[in-house]
Amino acid sequence: MPGFEVFGEEEKQEVMQVLESGVLFRYGFEDQRQQQWKVRQFEEAFARYTGAAHAQAVTSGTAALKVALIALGVGAGDEVITQGFTFVATWEAVLDCGAVPVFTEIDGTLNMDPQDLEKKIGPKTKAIIPVHMMGAPARIEEIVAIAGRHGIPVLEDTAQAAGARLHGRHLGTFGAIGTFSFDSVKTITTGEGGMCITNDKALWQRMDQYHDHGHDHLPNPGGRGGEGRPFIGFNYRMMEIQGAIGLAQLAKLDSIVAAQQRNKAVLREAAAAIPGVEFREVFDPAGDSATFLTFLLPDKAKADAVAAVLRDAGVPAIRWSENTWHYYPRWEHLLDGKTPCDDGWPFVAHGKRRYIYDPKALPNTVALLERALTYQVPVQLTQEQQDAICTALAAAARIF
Ligand SMILES: *Cc1c(COP(=O)(O)O)cnc(C)c1O
Repeated sequence: MPGFEVFGEEEKQEVMQVLESGVLFRYGFEDQRQQQWKVRQFEEAFARYTGAAHAQAVTSGTAALKVALIALGVGAGDEVITQGFTFVATWEAVLDCGAVPVFTEIDGTLNMDPQDLEKKIGPKTKAIIPVHMMGAPARIEEIVAIAGRHGIPVLEDTAQAAGARLHGRHLGTFGAIGTFSFDSVKTITTGEGGMCITNDKALWQRMDQYHDHGHDHLPNPGGRGGEGRPFIGFNYRMMEIQGAIGLAQLAKLDSIVAAQQRNKAVLREAAAAIPGVEFREVFDPAGDSATFLTFLLPDKAKADAVAAVLRDAGVPAIRWSENTWHYYPRWEHLLDGKTPCDDGWPFVAHGKRRYIYDPKALPNTVALLERALTYQVPVQLTQEQQDAICTALAAAARIF
């Protein structure tokens, strides 16, 4: 998935323009900035690219989730539904708003299971966050339809799926807000950074204001110090250097996706030789950003056996069921309610535990991920890498 593989001259040139002006701040400094507004241009370019009406840059994908949830009015007493296979950031943002995360199963897409979502919607549900894990879509149209019937907004965590589309439409544009991450391992990177996109002007305004201490950003004679503030906010501002890098990376995104699609097809064909293998359900392959290839064996024992062959061949596959950052049963700090706050917040309020997380609550998620093996798909797959993985997969195919 990584934009760092194609980091080069274009990024350097963009950054040099910022360094030459000496203006690192995204607002003000009109006299010094030589008409450069890198973060604003990055927002405009990202909105144009995804087809969204508005984009709001922030400091990270985690901040993007937080800012989006705040704009949707999520707070203490609310529940937000997400899936048990995601990066911890998704539910950290929910807890940081004072709300409680509720987890659904995943299905064959390895993303949110709409049937389980339907069961978990309750009177306190204030938002639903499907996550487009590993560059491919959740059943987002179905999820948006279910949410719509209940009048609940959908926030798409698109951190891992920049450049991915479903039926020609960019992921992140199906729900009320879509959020992206540009951290160091994402499809495009600004080192750290994030983006929120929406077609709803009022939601965009709330995100714009909240991410900058409530500043309303309206022209006024007093400049920045004279701006109004409709409500309290925080600081999640992106800086100009990040905006500059983002512009250069965004220009490469479609070619990154195209390269990954080609490389994924090669690895997929090699994996297909394994008897009994099936693939993660990607129901619009043309729109797959192809950051990862995931295949499943009929049971955990067979998956373990294939994993051992690949490991011994020096090309280990990712086992999400052993991963401590992306998989519900391994989030012991969440399950045990560990917090630096002396009073137990956000797991405890008024001396009472707010929600009990049962490590056995998501059996389908466990059953799927225990059978799954994943390779990250490089943008630049060398012949040696390709040969090593394909040879190892061929060896794995011979053990059954
Ligand atoms: C990376 C990631 C995030 C968080 O993004 P950061 O920029 O690292 O804060 C959120 N959700 C998912 C699914 C991610 O993979």
